Amino acid sequence: MPFSALGLSDPIVKAVTEQGYQTPTPIQAQAIPVVLAGDNLIAAAQTGTGKTASFVLPLLQQLIDAPEVRAKRVHAVILTPTRELAIQVEDNIRQYAAHLTLSSMAMYGGVDIAPQQQRLIEGVDILVATPGRLLDMLTRRAIHLDETRTLVIDEADRMLDMGFIADINKIVEKLPSQRQNLLFSATLSTQVRMLARTAVTDAVEISI
Ligand code: AMP
Repeated sequence: MPFSALGLSDPIVKAVTEQGYQTPTPIQAQAIPVVLAGDNLIAAAQTGTGKTASFVLPLLQQLIDAPEVRAKRVHAVILTPTRELAIQVEDNIRQYAAHLTLSSMAMYGGVDIAPQQQRLIEGVDILVATPGRLLDMLTRRAIHLDETRTLVIDEADRMLDMGFIADINKIVEKLPSQRQNLLFSATLSTQVRMLARTAVTDAVEISI
């Protein structure tokens, strides 16, 4: 099956082709239609399965399809457990959005907050963030998420292992209640399912 058969338009298909991808991986073939349909999703998928593109590609398509999306108002928030993963996911967004005009940002702790605050003033369409720093920004009122339509929780099991549950719950409270929620995790432990129960209700479930 080609990427175009999944409902992704030319600029996205062109970008993945340039990355050398020929066909969608199983998680991509299963998750992309669910995300494009606007449904909530819980996916059990390890790193290396192509899970990042399985949420980034349909997010990009949503931005193409939705003229009502206000530019640079943080349409989507992707939470990652580590700075390294935030940087890597944002890097992938840039690659897949090579033929689109949109702005993405990786936000993480352990570095000076001022340049990140400055970057936020310029506006962001897709934000990739570690929970602690995002919460700090929210507390400082340096970021507003009242137009966010999609939340992605990536590597949920690692997030819980690292003790981010309280931070994630506080972030979720600040998001509009009308939103799409996607959760990815290597394992769907009881703890992960408890997080899903509050943040990702009525979800389609995929296991790779
Ligand atoms: P991930 O599981 O998101 O960390 O992706 C693992 C690796 O697979 C990354 O290096 C991606 O560039 C690559 N990748 C993702 N999707 C595809 C695809 N459809 N075909 C070939 N490689 C892919």
